[in-house]
Amino acid sequence: MPISKEPATRTLAIRIPRPLEQLSKDELERKQHIGKVTTRTLRTLTEKFASRGFEWTLPVIFAKSTDPLWPDPGASIETRIETEIYGETVRTTLSMIIHKIVACSLLHPKFFTLSPNVRIEKRERRATGWHAYEFTQLDFEARNTESKDIRRIVEDILRGLLEDLKKNSREELTYFNRYKSLDAPSSPFKVYDREDLEAKYGKQWETQLPSAIKEPTWVTNIPREFYDYEDFDTRKWDNYDLFLPRYGEVLSGARREYEHGKITAKMERDGVKKENYELLLTLAKEGRVKPSAGAGIGVERLVSWIVGAEHIGEVQLFPKIPGVVYEL
Ligand code: ATP
Ligand code: ASP
Ligand code: MG
Repeated sequence: MPISKEPATRTLAIRIPRPLEQLSKDELERKQHIGKVTTRTLRTLTEKFASRGFEWTLPVIFAKSTDPLWPDPGASIETRIETEIYGETVRTTLSMIIHKIVACSLLHPKFFTLSPNVRIEKRERRATGWHAYEFTQLDFEARNTESKDIRRIVEDILRGLLEDLKKNSREELTYFNRYKSLDAPSSPFKVYDREDLEAKYGKQWETQLPSAIKEPTWVTNIPREFYDYEDFDTRKWDNYDLFLPRYGEVLSGARREYEHGKITAKMERDGVKKENYELLLTLAKEGRVKPSAGAGIGVERLVSWIVGAEHIGEVQLFPKIPGVVYEL
């Protein structure tokens, strides 16, 4: 989550998606087409990661440690869910970043998971059309890998996905009027440094960029949480977000910090509670945290872009829209 961010993209009067039982026949038909695109997308993405040697692991929901989603002056979280089980305080997954770093260091050199994230976004974010309060990341991590290699993997997989959809989901893409317009550029995609975007658009670059780009575009060097690698000499961050035209951020990732001294210094600087990250800190102190890099793709955001949805809730079977709680 980048610092100094405003609610992304399309803040026009947006129609709030209704639950299944209230949809008309035509709307149900549209939802069925979205279901077909989602199936093909997940099938292709998982197959592509698995065939590149990434193990497919199952997600976790409760843990003592989760993503701090901090520091962030524009903090988007209205409530952080903590509960007690067996006398211990646990949190619902904000992202599986801590688990990814630990699992990648101790067990799987390459793996991915489809991870449900619960983020009770501020209710005004219903109007961005780009935020849900439950969503899924295809979250992956690779040991001893550089940022540019992760970006290449994402580019290849995204291009492969679009090629596959054009071949195998022609009917659906035509239905959504996306058959002709859906394209990814050849590698490497364009890369912008966040500082250059700030110089051009000001602090609100994130809301301006989607309408300024015509194709998926990388942004690097974004101040974020302690786990993204920061060069303490140059103050540059070795991380990357992928932005989609018209919509906004669909992926965040980075090379990771693994040295105990740096992680501790950043936690202290950012006011992150070290007691919530005891295991990570112990492993780092023992030299058992390995250098890695990875990223998380917002699955619903990706599908929204593919089908040209107006609101992310449209591509969710049961919409989880900030400030709107349906029975299912
Ligand atoms: P944003 O700036 O758009 O609020 P973020 O930077 O806070 O997003 P990250 O913490 O980087 O999000 O999460 C990783 C990915 O998860 C994002 O790139 C996005 O694709 C997806 N994601 C994050 N928040 C949401 C949300 N509320 N609804 C749907 N997808 C989300
Ligand atoms: N999944 C992201 C990453 O790999 C972390 C996040 O969700 O913010 O960097
Ligand atoms: Mg992000």
